[in-house]
Amino acid sequence: MQTQSPISAATARAPMPDSHATAIHELPPLPYEFTALAPIISEATVRVHYLKHNKGYVDELNRLIANSEFVGMSLEQILLATAKQPEHEKIYNNAAQAWNHSFYWRSLKPHGGGDAPRALQPLIAAGYGDTDVLKRELATAATTLFGSGWAWLALDGEKLKIVKTGNADNVLTQGLKPLLVIDVWEHAYYLDFQNRRADHIAGVLDKLINWEFAADNLKR
Ligand code: MN
Repeated sequence: MQTQSPISAATARAPMPDSHATAIHELPPLPYEFTALAPIISEATVRVHYLKHNKGYVDELNRLIANSEFVGMSLEQILLATAKQPEHEKIYNNAAQAWNHSFYWRSLKPHGGGDAPRALQPLIAAGYGDTDVLKRELATAATTLFGSGWAWLALDGEKLKIVKTGNADNVLTQGLKPLLVIDVWEHAYYLDFQNRRADHIAGVLDKLINWEFAADNLKR
C-alpha cells in the first residue's frame, strides 16, 4: 500500500481555484446556530434539515449539471431555464429546492415574529388591513397546502400576494418577487410536531418569521 506524505494530502484537499469554484454550488452558511430556532424548531430538526435535506439538494444539483449547459449559471438562472421542461425536471427540482432552502433559512430568525416593519406597513394595509390578517392568511395557505411544498409572501407588481406552491416550485417562475417563504414539507416539522403542521406554523409566525428580511427583499 502506498503512503501519502502530509504535504500531498493537504494539497489534495486544497480549495479549487476560483475559475473552477464558480461552477460549483455551495451550501450557504446557516445564518444562526443550530439551536437558535428552538423550541419551535429544535436543534435536531435544523441539523437534519440543513445538513441532510438542504445539502442533499445542492450536492445532487452539482452532480446533475456536471459538464452540462447549466454550469456557471446561478441557481435562479437554472431554475428559470429549466421550469416546466420535463427533460430537465430533476435539475429544476434540485435547483429550486436549493434556492428555496437558502431563502427559507433567512426568512426565519431567533426572536422573530411581532409586527412587520414600517416599510411593509402600507402594502399590508392595502392588501390585508393589518399584520394579524396577513399572518392568518399566510397560516391558512401553509396549513392547507396538500402534501409537500412552500407558502410564500410575494410581491405581484405593487401588491402583496400569498401563494402556495407544491413540491419544489418557486414563485420566481410565476413572475413574482419572493419576500418570505415557509417550508411545509414534513421534514421541516415532523420531529417536533409530528402531524400538527398548524401548531408548527403558528409558532413560526409568532416567534420566528423575519419581517425585516421581507422588507429588505422589497428593495431587491
Ligand atoms: Mn425543507
